[in-house]
Amino acid sequence: MRMLLSLMIPSLLWAAQPAGPIHDHYDRRLAPRLVPLLSEVIRFPTVAGNTKAWTDQKAWLQALAMDLGFEVRDAGKVMEVDLPATGPRAGAPVLGLLVHGDVQPVDDHWSIPPFSGTVKDGRVLGRGAADDKGPMIQALLAMKALKESGPARTSTIRLLVGSDEESTNTDITDYLKANRPPDLSLVLDSAFPVVVGEKAWNALTLATQRPTAPTADRPWTVAALEAGLATSIVPDRAVIRLASATGTDPLTDLRKRLEARPLDPGCRAAFSLAPEGAGASLTVTVQGKAAHGGVNLEGGRNALVALARLLDGELPPGGADDLLAFARKAGTDLYGTGLGLTETDPLWGRCAVNVATLKPETDGGLKLTLNIRATPKRYGPALEAHLRQVVSEFATARHATFSFGGFFGDTPLAFDPQSRLVKRLMADYARATGRVDRPAISGGGTYAKRMPHAIAFGMWFPGQPYPGHDVDEQVPIEDLHRGVHVLIETLTDLACGEPLKEPFKP
Ligand SMILES: [Zn+2]
Repeated sequence: MRMLLSLMIPSLLWAAQPAGPIHDHYDRRLAPRLVPLLSEVIRFPTVAGNTKAWTDQKAWLQALAMDLGFEVRDAGKVMEVDLPATGPRAGAPVLGLLVHGDVQPVDDHWSIPPFSGTVKDGRVLGRGAADDKGPMIQALLAMKALKESGPARTSTIRLLVGSDEESTNTDITDYLKANRPPDLSLVLDSAFPVVVGEKAWNALTLATQRPTAPTADRPWTVAALEAGLATSIVPDRAVIRLASATGTDPLTDLRKRLEARPLDPGCRAAFSLAPEGAGASLTVTVQGKAAHGGVNLEGGRNALVALARLLDGELPPGGADDLLAFARKAGTDLYGTGLGLTETDPLWGRCAVNVATLKPETDGGLKLTLNIRATPKRYGPALEAHLRQVVSEFATARHATFSFGGFFGDTPLAFDPQSRLVKRLMADYARATGRVDRPAISGGGTYAKRMPHAIAFGMWFPGQPYPGHDVDEQVPIEDLHRGVHVLIETLTDLACGEPLKEPFKP
């Protein structure tokens, strides 16, 4: 009977530690500190290479953590902030909370200064507001709430703040050379309710040196072609310059045809025709919208694919036309249909394809780069072999030659949605928010791929596009507080109750 009971109502047994008073304590005493602290930390422009900003932020964090009553340890590329277990510390398990203190670079398209920590219309704006400085402050305040008004802790709670997640991404690997990982870690750098799958990151590159050969009906060459910033960003700008050696008439006609063509929704095109020697040049610039290629692919508007479609049938044979034709094929949709990647998984869905960059090479050739976020259905060598076949058939059909390259070394990270930990986290989230959301699959990778026994948990709420890596990065203040309440519920459950045994098993 007892056995039966415990099978039937495990969620009630889990919630043995009521977190109500801690939530109240946070709302009354600590919540007012959240926005000012987040604004302060956004003011350190911790982009890759800014050593001073990093050193200053570290000193600031150290002082703050000590002021909050935590133990702080500088572990090189990672900083540890501990709220120790109650009573004898030896032997107590460690529950890790992972965030990163560095941020993505910024461009000049922001409507506010990106490092000012602006508060406007119920939101905090600035680089890092969501990714990942918001979660850093949320974690510190949730820990403080537990320290001041929580029950006895069976685990030590350790906040780990990394330093190069957005660039070289060596911090956790280096940390593990000299430090033991926490027994269990939550990575606060993705989405709620919990991320049960992180897709594998791949890059496909096609390079060509085939020159463009003008024809009688298309008497122009490709003088320049460039699109995109980086492999993980949807390209928001694509530019081509066509040159004709004889008069302006052919390019004037071409311009008229192109102006009359429909353009992909959300994109704009600008044309400029200029005399050049005895001939002329036509520059076509397509503007789209940048977005995170893994987490918010649907939010972007791909300028490179739009340019490729605009120029369909208008370029003479050559490498530029070959690569743009491949961009059209790969960009049929965002899920790889054009590349024959049509498999779908009930939990993971489809893979995600970003036609990312097209750039000139130092040898005078051109290189196209695609970013493919793959599911467990097809990744690694199987994905590479499939794409080699697709590229080879495509090249043969149009007498093109490509050199095939890229990166296919990543693997998807998968968790059992029925595992004890996932079920506990889902229950904690539901208790704190009153919401029941489906476990998430992420196109992006987090520290969970580098830290043993780690899973991504929050802090972005589902139903709105993730603003990290975008211009005017911003977070609603209400969501920041809501996220702290989820953390309070979770820390009370996992760090104050009976430590979870074999958390990744059902
Ligand atoms: Zn991040």
